Amino acid sequence: MAGLRDGDFFTLQEVALGVFAAIAKRGSGAGSNAGIVDLGGAALVFDAMMTPSAGAALRAAAEEVTGGRVRYLVLSHRDYDHVMGAQAFPDAVVIATGTTDAVMRRRVGSVLSSSEEERKELLEGSARQVEEAQSAELRRERAGFYADFAALLAQHAALAPHYPELLFERSLTIAGARRRVELLAAGALHTESDAVLWLREDGVLFSGDLIQVQNHPAVRCGRPGEWDGVLQQVAQLAPRVVVPGHGPLGGPAAIEETRRYFAQLPAMTTEELLVEPFQSWAARDVWRQNLHYLQSLQQD
Ligand SMILES: [Zn+2]
Repeated sequence: MAGLRDGDFFTLQEVALGVFAAIAKRGSGAGSNAGIVDLGGAALVFDAMMTPSAGAALRAAAEEVTGGRVRYLVLSHRDYDHVMGAQAFPDAVVIATGTTDAVMRRRVGSVLSSSEEERKELLEGSARQVEEAQSAELRRERAGFYADFAALLAQHAALAPHYPELLFERSLTIAGARRRVELLAAGALHTESDAVLWLREDGVLFSGDLIQVQNHPAVRCGRPGEWDGVLQQVAQLAPRVVVPGHGPLGGPAAIEETRRYFAQLPAMTTEELLVEPFQSWAARDVWRQNLHYLQSLQQD
């Protein structure tokens, strides 16, 4: 842990007594937000961030603020920016859906077996994207993505993934002396399988990438039309606080905004047609990928 301070990778915000949101700093190697929950005598961490070093800072913060060991690490979905820090939690039971586990093993395996040449090419491609950005904001965004990605590849030799070992399909309740929490699988929306963490008594939802705040949510799998039904169910939980996968803390409005985003996405086909607040959201590249995905569904 030498040289790493809490605050290098994320800012920690207490959203309920003993419940914390770790909001990632762009380009730090954190890659995505995470959560820390004091279960009473043990801690649960939701998502592991993008690099072993960010994961280590997250574990240290969790131990510090809860005064206990991290007993459980939940991975919301298979994306690198949420799972590659898991190896910093060697003593925790890693939990994910069976689908997330299967896809994660395949994807992480291909990173591990990639050649130095391939990784160099990927990084150079990402650097070119930064240079080709046509606005200062997009350049900053892509530079942040590049820095996160470079931080991951720089730690390639030290990667020793901690894969899930407790798998669930629909839901899982975890009880501690102080509170019980629920993991809910939402189906294939952002990825092949996405799960959220719900703290009923605290009214806190850790949404993973199902809900983002001031960031375009990425749809890569499944049918975007089904996203709205899931968001309606989430809205019925009536969370007081939404900790998104990316972006600052949100409330109930974040759910409605995400619903509006998907309702309007098919019509937002050009930069000019992007309406507010989506016009000002980060991850503009994700919006373009979303449109391509919608088009590919129409062609099927
Ligand atoms: Zn993410």
